[in-house]
Amino acid sequence: MSIPNIELNDGHSIPQLGFGVFQIHPRETAQAVSEALEVGYRHIDTAEMYGNEREVGEAIRDSGLDRAEVYVTSKLNNGFHRPDDAREAFDRTLAELGFDYVDLFLIHWPLPTLYDGDFVSTWRTLEEFNQHGSARSIGLSNFQVAHMERLAAETDTVPAANQIELHPYFLNEEVRSYNEAHGIATEAWSPLAQGEVLDDPVITAIAERVGRTPAQVVLRWHIQRGNVVFPKSVTRERIRENFEVFDFDLAPGDIEDINGLDKGESGRIGPNPDRFAYVPS
Ligand code: NDP
Repeated sequence: MSIPNIELNDGHSIPQLGFGVFQIHPRETAQAVSEALEVGYRHIDTAEMYGNEREVGEAIRDSGLDRAEVYVTSKLNNGFHRPDDAREAFDRTLAELGFDYVDLFLIHWPLPTLYDGDFVSTWRTLEEFNQHGSARSIGLSNFQVAHMERLAAETDTVPAANQIELHPYFLNEEVRSYNEAHGIATEAWSPLAQGEVLDDPVITAIAERVGRTPAQVVLRWHIQRGNVVFPKSVTRERIRENFEVFDFDLAPGDIEDINGLDKGESGRIGPNPDRFAYVPS
């Protein structure tokens, strides 16, 4: 099954479907990533915060695939927004992965209530990584519209991507449409709402009608709306099931019905980025 690429605003492109490794224990990560690569995934989404970059790198090397065949994203951890700290953290990420570049490096959270609200100098530091070629593309995660407006006013590089919480219970439409209007790819994290949406009657009814599983229906909905997704699973059959979403289409009415499940702010499963201030100790 061939996975479409999404063109980024910097001339690079990203496979629209990848494999996420949040909450996969380091001991299980190499196995899960190896299974994903065997199935055909060529895009892995990790982060320093997940504590498993090393195992992601190992699995990619052990696969026998060329480094260039696998798209790898990692993210700047929350304790390291100051420029010198960010440089060290980025070097650490490359060392853990065992690679001399990442395809995409993101600021994991904006942390507007920390660092005197200064994510601008952090972004300028990512611009350095990009200029050096060690981050082929740079982007954001969990940035709200006001944060991106500030970056647009004060810096030169339009982020390639913004990775945000987005699933049928939380369409995050204000941020998604800002991304779209500014040529910023939307990456949808927790695309399955960590499983919460999979027994929704609207989803299960569509799944029954089209002869697919609820997870496949939700992932197909994301794909047709243009989102980049990287569902996480440690279960072999699910890793495969989540990959098989390019040989059927949802009707426009089904897309509309799933859009209708949006609960607004109360549909979030993760923290609100305007207030989130967690720094790992
Ligand atoms: P997902 O929406 O991908 O859901 C994962 C959960 O759904 C797991 O419990 C998994 O179970 C289950 N699951 C997966 N596939 C199926 C299936 N086919 N049928 C039934 N259940 C299934 O949640 P995540 O939070 O992991 O999000 C995905 C990725 O997004 C992360 O791994 C990470 O890369 C990224 N992310 C980024 C964040 C950010 O702040 N930038 C925040 C959160 C996530 P099991 O593993 O037991 O099979």
